[in-house]
Amino acid sequence: MNKPLFSFEFFPPQTPEGVEKLAATRKQLALLHPEFFSVTFGAGGSTQERTLEIVRQIKAEGLTVAPHLSCVGSTRENIRALLFTYKDMGIKRIVALRGDLPSGMATTGEFQYANELVSFIRAQTGEHFHIEVAAYPEFHPQARSAHDDVLNFKRKVAAGADSAITQYFYNADSYFYFVDKCRKLGVTVPIVPGIMPIVKFAQLARFSDTCGAEIPRWIRKTLEGYGDDTESVQAFGQDVVAALCERLLAGGAPGLHFYTLNQAAPALEIWKRLGL
Ligand SMILES: Cc1cc2nc3c(=O)[nH]c(=O)nc-3n(C[C@H](O)[C@H](O)[C@H](O)COP(=O)(O)OP(=O)(O)OC[C@H]3O[C@@H](n4cnc5c(N)ncnc54)[C@H](O)[C@@H]3O)c2cc1C
Repeated sequence: MNKPLFSFEFFPPQTPEGVEKLAATRKQLALLHPEFFSVTFGAGGSTQERTLEIVRQIKAEGLTVAPHLSCVGSTRENIRALLFTYKDMGIKRIVALRGDLPSGMATTGEFQYANELVSFIRAQTGEHFHIEVAAYPEFHPQARSAHDDVLNFKRKVAAGADSAITQYFYNADSYFYFVDKCRKLGVTVPIVPGIMPIVKFAQLARFSDTCGAEIPRWIRKTLEGYGDDTESVQAFGQDVVAALCERLLAGGAPGLHFYTLNQAAPALEIWKRLGL
């Protein structure tokens, strides 16, 4: 088996303390020599400046960074300006997304779906960027059907995406089934599972309801049962997520992308347990 590729995702903090804490997190995770760090981008440009600032900081530390770029609510001109800013900074990788329109924002802007953004990036910057797109083993909540969702994923790859990162999930079979279905449709790009460590149950349940990621009943019930006992939640969470990662890698996943929520410890612990 090739050495698996690892990457870590951050969000741009809102406060100076958050920025400082993220710098410390990065320092710890950089010791694991990930393939890249990625930084999320609020749809409609809501975090544009903060994303750019964190991307600058990571780049200045000599680390590889992939900014996320979501297109909903944006104009071509705005996206083009950002692409060239990143290109001029020497950024080589972009995570291209549609995003979700913030509530209250009326216009969808000039892009409707992520495949249009991927085409636009290729048209503007040729092969400069390695383009990552999102994939959904448990299917995107707005998809008309499971099959349509896979076809829409295929459309993003046909538009020029090089690889994909999945939404998080706790059911390995959904990932294997999704990859298998893509391969049968002729989609050959690497599809890296997105991994969400379990740190706080209430927060995880909220996220999962919004993004359509299922927390299997046995996991949900066990976590609920721990109530405010954070230590037990995290210990159980580590067991579940480390076992999931092991199974994914053993089954051929090309790597793991960690949704760190700007914390080093959960990802480090899983890393240790995987013996990497
Ligand atoms: C790895 C990862 C990172 C993320 N990072 C961010 C981030 O930084 N910022 C952010 O705002 N959000 C982020 N998200 C969330 C993402 O923006 C949402 O899930 C969003 O709802 C869909 O984005 P997408 O790029 O997958 O959209 P799309 O691929 O455009 O798909 C959206 C929906 O439209 C359907 N669809 C796609 N193309 C077509 C078409 N041509 N015709 C009809 N239907 C179509 C799809 O089946 C799907 O239901 C991330 C998600 C993942 C998995």
